[in-house]
Amino acid sequence: MRRKLVVGNWKMNGNRAANASLLAGIVAGVNASEASCAVCAPAPYLAQCQDALAGSPVAWGAQDVSAQPGGAFTGEVAASMLADFACAYVIVGHSERRAYHGENSELVAKKAVAVLDAGMTPIVCVGETLAEREAGQTVAVVASQLGAVLDLVGERVAQIVVAYEPVWAIGTGKTATPAMAQEVHAQLRAQLMAKNAVAAETVQILYGGSMKPDNALELMAQPDIDGGLIGGAALKAADFLAILHAA
Ligand code: PGA
Repeated sequence: MRRKLVVGNWKMNGNRAANASLLAGIVAGVNASEASCAVCAPAPYLAQCQDALAGSPVAWGAQDVSAQPGGAFTGEVAASMLADFACAYVIVGHSERRAYHGENSELVAKKAVAVLDAGMTPIVCVGETLAEREAGQTVAVVASQLGAVLDLVGERVAQIVVAYEPVWAIGTGKTATPAMAQEVHAQLRAQLMAKNAVAAETVQILYGGSMKPDNALELMAQPDIDGGLIGGAALKAADFLAILHAA
């Protein structure tokens, strides 16, 4: 039985005052016995998350990381730096990184390995664009994105989290139907199975893309949907908590 996991992806939103009230709202409403949860904040606010979430069941994470261990890489943040102050999760390969920062699956795989090497959990994002879905390429696209990561992480596959985020559903209000999402999640699970059957049973596969309080229950009732990666709805404590309670 996999424990559900709900992760907020704040993207490039927030400020000290807004974060303080969002974090306080989440801490006040969270119940340690329910699904696991985490918030992934912009890098300057990670220390604020660490302080505000200390002693709570809410974990925190980063939205990206360098594939390099350190050195002359201006503007980059190394995995060891995140691990240095107890960061738990790092999102890698979000479609916005792939689309706006030219990240390919090989780089995403290297980032996942850097996160694992530093003792944290990578949340590996995969997902097809609308054009790819309409061309019938969904399965091939997500299989190649996940495959690149599986090739590099080797036997550490049990230590990753996967997030299926159809690009056309992100921030658009268009959610994949539970059946559409389940179909891809089952495909991803089968790919994990082929790599390591025991690990595949435990790897959490999150759905992301306009998950909201009113569709979370149905999506998370699917057998291979183990939680959510939440963008817009993670910026309001009440919505984030409602999704968490649904999980
Ligand atoms: P959304 O974003 O919930 O706003 O669609 C999800 C994501 O990009 O992780």
